[in-house]
Amino acid sequence: MAEGDKSVKATETPQAISGTLGSDAAMKLVAEMLAGRIVNITPQYDFTNELGFIYPAVEQTLKVKGKEAVAILESLAAKDIVNKSFFDRFIRCGRCQSPHLRPSAHCPKCGSGDVVRGRVLEHFACNYVGVEDEFTVRGRYICPRCKMELRTMGTDYRSQGVLYKCRSCSEIFSVPFLKWRCLKCSSLATEDEVGVVIICSYSFNESKRNWLEFELQPKVRFMEFLRQHGYEVTENARVQGRSGAEHYIDILATRDDGVVSHTIAIGIEIARDRIGLDRILDFDVKAYDSSIRNKLLIIIPGLSEEAQKFASYQRIRVLQPEDLQAVLTGSPQPGRETVKAPFEFKSKSQLIQYLEKKGYKIQENSEVRGRSGAVHNMDILATRDEGIITHRIAVGVEVAEKPMGLERIFDFDDRAYDAGILDKVLIAVPGLTKEARQFAKRQGIRVFEAGQLEPTAEENPKP
Ligand SMILES: [Zn+2]
Ligand SMILES: [Zn+2]
Ligand SMILES: [Zn+2]
Repeated sequence: MAEGDKSVKATETPQAISGTLGSDAAMKLVAEMLAGRIVNITPQYDFTNELGFIYPAVEQTLKVKGKEAVAILESLAAKDIVNKSFFDRFIRCGRCQSPHLRPSAHCPKCGSGDVVRGRVLEHFACNYVGVEDEFTVRGRYICPRCKMELRTMGTDYRSQGVLYKCRSCSEIFSVPFLKWRCLKCSSLATEDEVGVVIICSYSFNESKRNWLEFELQPKVRFMEFLRQHGYEVTENARVQGRSGAEHYIDILATRDDGVVSHTIAIGIEIARDRIGLDRILDFDVKAYDSSIRNKLLIIIPGLSEEAQKFASYQRIRVLQPEDLQAVLTGSPQPGRETVKAPFEFKSKSQLIQYLEKKGYKIQENSEVRGRSGAVHNMDILATRDEGIITHRIAVGVEVAEKPMGLERIFDFDDRAYDAGILDKVLIAVPGLTKEARQFAKRQGIRVFEAGQLEPTAEENPKP
């Protein structure tokens, strides 16, 4: 079985969730939002702060400051846990980052800051143009250039309206060139040189509620449950499929039972409404391409009827919230032998004993009804019920005069498939032909080739 590359290693502690949610602080914030104690996270201006704004709700709850609070909110927004929306935009000094900037008007022609604003008058006689102040002398208008008095508007002079005048180069203009003076470092910057800060408000993304509630509690307990059953658990495991595609399995659980090894692909599908066929289909295809036959889906809140039918047909075990609850609150199974020793076949009875020790129930000459309706006789059927999944091993015993050919092993494989039994073990006496051996390997059949079925001499004879 190709289990692929398990490069993403799960941590053993509840910190596994922090892997999904980010830091512990982010987790705490999420918990507050789930509980409804924090709903909207809006910024407040605070120019004593280096950023120029703060998020009081975050700072009070998490005891973090400025940039750290923003980083937490941004990480949650990136994971779609909070929705982000525009709140305001302001500028700050490009050199020292201070938000304390004062606008100053400049002459668009010479750049001088010596600019005045006022009603601009034009003296017809000498063409002098200046602001009203320049003409005003003791309640009368006197031209500063030719010293004549301006008496009648429209005849002596006219008003151009309220404009700006540069005192350095005398340029008259309606729109000054705006620059920003930093009150902290005194640098003067143009509009293009100042930094722009966009501040946002955040709100909890309600559509993630089910997922988060699962992520924060039952998931950790579920993984713990798997470990108690002797599984190695990998979260978000990367698996290379037969097609060459790379898949991510939400939880990959593997356990080596010596005789056979189990790999379970566990998918987690959480939504607001019932989950449809497409998502189940995706999971099934992924598991198939990854050659993982044990399939389990955790479904919250439920499946559509169509999806349910498909899951049952494809032998996908589905755990809905109530099933999950039952599994997690059920008493832990008695500890089982977890020592991993390579199994060495000695005899049929020794194999049976070994499986019993691993917690399997053994039935000899068992009859199993297949998907086709046919009833198959299994030499040995080993069953282990783990609450979430039941492992069944079909053990075939084939004794013949000469090595067994393709036909018999094909028949064994076919019966197991029809019966929906995923783990197959074949005891072949005296052995297999080369083609049969290749076929067994390809079909994942564990084969023990023995000279005889039971040892005759001193090797653990069974009464
Ligand atoms: Zn004049
Ligand atoms: Zn000027
Ligand atoms: Zn500055």
